[in-house]
Amino acid sequence: MNEVKSPKKPLIFYYVVVLIVLFLLNSLLVPYLASRQIQEVDYGTFMQMTEDGEIGEVEISDNEILFTDKDGTRIYKTGVMDDPNLTERLYASGATFSSEIVEEMSPLLSFFLYWILPILIFIGIGQLLSKRLMKNYSGGGNSMMFNMGKSSAKVYVKSADGIKFSDVAGEDEAKENLTEIVDYLHNPGKYKDIGASMPKGVLLVGPPGTGKTMLAKAVAGEANVPFFSMSGSEFVEMFVGMGASKVRDLFKQAKEKAPCIVFIDEIDAIGKKRDGQFGSNDEREQTLNQLLTEMDGFEGNNGVIILAATNRPDSLDPALTRPGRFDRRVPVELPDLKGREEILKVHAKKIKIADNVDFEKVARMASGASGAELANIVNEAALRAVRDGRACATQSDMEESIEVVIAGYQKKNAILTTKEKMVVSYHEIGHALVAAKQTNSAPVTKITIIPRTSGALGYTMQVDEGNHYLMNKEEIENKIATLTGGRAAEEVIFGSVTTGASNDIEQATKLARAMITQYGMSEKFDMVAMETVTNQYLGGDTSLACSAETQAQIDKDVVELVKRQHEKATQILIENRMKLDELAQYLYEKETITGEEFMKILNA
Ligand code: ADP
Ligand code: ZN
Repeated sequence: MNEVKSPKKPLIFYYVVVLIVLFLLNSLLVPYLASRQIQEVDYGTFMQMTEDGEIGEVEISDNEILFTDKDGTRIYKTGVMDDPNLTERLYASGATFSSEIVEEMSPLLSFFLYWILPILIFIGIGQLLSKRLMKNYSGGGNSMMFNMGKSSAKVYVKSADGIKFSDVAGEDEAKENLTEIVDYLHNPGKYKDIGASMPKGVLLVGPPGTGKTMLAKAVAGEANVPFFSMSGSEFVEMFVGMGASKVRDLFKQAKEKAPCIVFIDEIDAIGKKRDGQFGSNDEREQTLNQLLTEMDGFEGNNGVIILAATNRPDSLDPALTRPGRFDRRVPVELPDLKGREEILKVHAKKIKIADNVDFEKVARMASGASGAELANIVNEAALRAVRDGRACATQSDMEESIEVVIAGYQKKNAILTTKEKMVVSYHEIGHALVAAKQTNSAPVTKITIIPRTSGALGYTMQVDEGNHYLMNKEEIENKIATLTGGRAAEEVIFGSVTTGASNDIEQATKLARAMITQYGMSEKFDMVAMETVTNQYLGGDTSLACSAETQAQIDKDVVELVKRQHEKATQILIENRMKLDELAQYLYEKETITGEEFMKILNA
């Protein structure tokens, strides 16, 4: 899209004016001076010229002699010598004696040139600068320096290559929700007639990289209206009051351009709950207050629609989300299987890709990936194709790039000892085997023991069971057992343990804890919430809300729960020791095996 700066005469304009004035002055003065240029010559030349009768006028003063040639076009100058009969010789040569070869500049003119003109120029420049300053003062409220406090919201002028809804794959619910706004911007009369007013603000909430910014741009693109975009953090300045003046400015610009879309990204940067604690951020609060005032200030139907994005909706100030402000909330969730497939296809259009790429399979492998990650996967695939000198990206490029995005690049020079490689093989097969024996289905799409730059020495790519909204207690327990399966295999085979299970341990503990404190899956605590999720879209941090004794009890129960599943996993592995050996050996040799290969050996 074209970006257009707000119209304002740039400083360069004034420099150009000054330059032109100087140039004019020069071009008037220089020829005058050049025509009367005085050439300095030695006394000998002067005597020679006198002898040859080439002197036109001559003027002798105390310390120099000025003279011209016969035509009077050139002026010469030389020093004074002790030359007694010079006057006679000059007279004889036909020179005329003069007293004003170089006319003195008229005193009035020289006074003007040397005194008045410079002063005039300085006053002129001063005037121009102070005018600019004044403009900044009034425009920026209480701004203190040039341009501070001026809203730097960019204006995206509508353009043909703007983003459309069709560029945003998946997210059908969000699009449906926003279509109404597009319709309103196209045809506000329809809504006014019936007395309905559009929401002033729409809050897009969801995890990072799910296309919130894209959706906002698409609304502007579809409605063909200007798009003002600003990040919440840009409002918060060093000086108190500056952010507020930026908000004022942004809304002033927006009202002039209505109908239009104002997009505030990361609104939580200014919209955090005002808690009135000591040391709270005055600047942020003032900015927020200004935003609230502005939103109240304009009529519902003036065509300015504010979209804001955040991934921490629970931290927003309630005043911001009440009706009349950001009263509509549009969830923009991580894409499901179908959504992932569509996003991959949208981005694949931008690269050269083989016809036989199975997007569904790729989408299945990339479970849990956000739109931004999927875009990244497609790009990585194209890069890989270029690296290997292929004309287009293939299925294997896509699959490899998923692993790159999830686990980092292959570590080409990480050399594991034979023993380490063996341990990693058993560990990964341990996970897969425990999972397979519990569910009796293919648990994984791929297992590999090629070290990755992320630090993983091997990993197992789980099968995505499609859309799965509920998990029962047994399923979670099985999952914990699967997570402990890696460590269990090490114990069963080598009788000792390694550091390789730290991530498994973390995940297993998290699940076990959630069962007890959030999902009410323990008899002891029944349906009492011991923990609340504070950060739904950013990793799901939790905060405990129970007494110290209860905490101790929870910790004990978590340990017990994990231990039970660990024992179960060990039992499964001991019972299937033969398969475990066979599979681990196969993985050790092949380094990467698919889910099908795994199942074939298991069921053989
Ligand atoms: P957010 O604002 O939610 O953090 P963005 O809108 O900035 O995410 O998305 C980042 C990038 O991810 C986009 O530029 C786009 O390439 C890709 N992307 C995310 N979601 C989608 C989607 N639903 N369809 C197509 N591309 C997407
Ligand atoms: Zn593991």
